[in-house]
Amino acid sequence: MAGEPQADCLFCKIVAGSIPATVVRETETTVAFRDINPQAPTHVLVIPKVHYADGASLAAAEPAVAADILREAGQVALDEKIVDHGYRIVFNTGSGAGQTVFHAHAHVLGGRGLQWPPG
Ligand code: 5GP
Repeated sequence: MAGEPQADCLFCKIVAGSIPATVVRETETTVAFRDINPQAPTHVLVIPKVHYADGASLAAAEPAVAADILREAGQVALDEKIVDHGYRIVFNTGSGAGQTVFHAHAHVLGGRGLQWPPG
C-alpha cells in the first residue's frame, strides 16, 4: 500500500536501520544521510520515512511530509555551511532523469561550483 514500507526498498531499509548510513539529521518524518557516492563535497539525501516512488508522488499524497523534506534540505545546507556559495536541491524523477532508487529523495548538493544546465 502507498506509504507503507516496501521489503525490497533500499531506503526503507535505511529508515528501518537494517542497512547502515551516515545519518546527519532525523525528524519524526524524515532522515537525512550522506550519499554513498558523493557528487560534490556536500551530498546529502533527505528522504521521507514513508515510502513513495518519487517526490511528486509524495507531495500529492502527503504534502506536509514533502514540505518537511524541503525544510530539512534547507537545514542540511545551513549545517553544512554551503548556503553562501549556493547549493542545489534535486529530485531525479524517472529512470530517464537518472533516478535509480524509487523511494522519494532530495539530493542536497553543494560545496563546489554547480553548472547550469545540469547534464
Ligand atoms: P537517484 O539516482 O535515484 O536520484 O539517487 C540515488 C542515490 O542513492 C545515488 O546518488 C546513490 O549514490 C545513492 N545510494 C545508492 N545506494 C546507497 C546506499 O546504500 N547508501 C547511501 N548512503 N546512498 C546510496
